[in-house]
Amino acid sequence: MRIDRDSELFVRLEATRESVARTCVAAGRAPGDVTIVVVTKTFPASDVISLAHHGVCDFGENRDQEAAPKAQEVAADLASPLRWHFIGQLQTNKCASVARYANLVHSVDRRKLVTALDHAVGSAAKPPLGALVQVNLDPEPEPGRGGASPADVRAIADAIATTENLTFEGVMGVAPHPGDPVAAFERLREIASEISDDHPSAKIISAGMSGDFAAAIQAGATHVRLGAAILGERPPLT
Ligand SMILES: *Cc1c(COP(=O)(O)O)cnc(C)c1O
Repeated sequence: MRIDRDSELFVRLEATRESVARTCVAAGRAPGDVTIVVVTKTFPASDVISLAHHGVCDFGENRDQEAAPKAQEVAADLASPLRWHFIGQLQTNKCASVARYANLVHSVDRRKLVTALDHAVGSAAKPPLGALVQVNLDPEPEPGRGGASPADVRAIADAIATTENLTFEGVMGVAPHPGDPVAAFERLREIASEISDDHPSAKIISAGMSGDFAAAIQAGATHVRLGAAILGERPPLT
């Protein structure tokens, strides 16, 4: 493990933890109310291992091709298991792989994916897998971006809840850019509250990234997904 990288990660992690805690208090919430999911996409397994040694257990990845080998490499190196959050757009042909390592899939946005994930978890003989419905919060949705339209969220949530191998745990959203993150996250909170009438144990609201997590925490996020704030700027995607 490179000492300089390890201490850089530790400093950024501590600063981010403090900032999240302060934002919680400013929003009238308990400082430990929000789980930080550290998004390690594009960064090596060695960074995950460093962060795990500094007490991080929740990690997020958005591409199965990258996440599957990384989760495997890290598992071989660590004594206690991590929680992997799959946060990216998911194709049905990747469900079998994702079911092997993921603990929570944040990006369920269509019925076909519910069926495919349920089947994958059943075939892998794994315990039930947590699932969030990703909501498209863009008032003018662009085709091809992830997320169910708000009108479809309830049906997808009900579908998840009736499967054998998935548990419906809440909702996820990404604020539109450009756009107003406060309005977007308030919308997500309203949707979460409507759904909770039928699904009272689905309490997760996954919202907020490095640039907008304060707005998300104000709007009731239980999980923030932070990459750049902790790991630094990502190399541009190729
Ligand atoms: C990459 C990513 C994040 C983290 O973004 P940062 O700006 O690096 O904090 C959060 N959520 C999703 C869905 C992502 O793809």
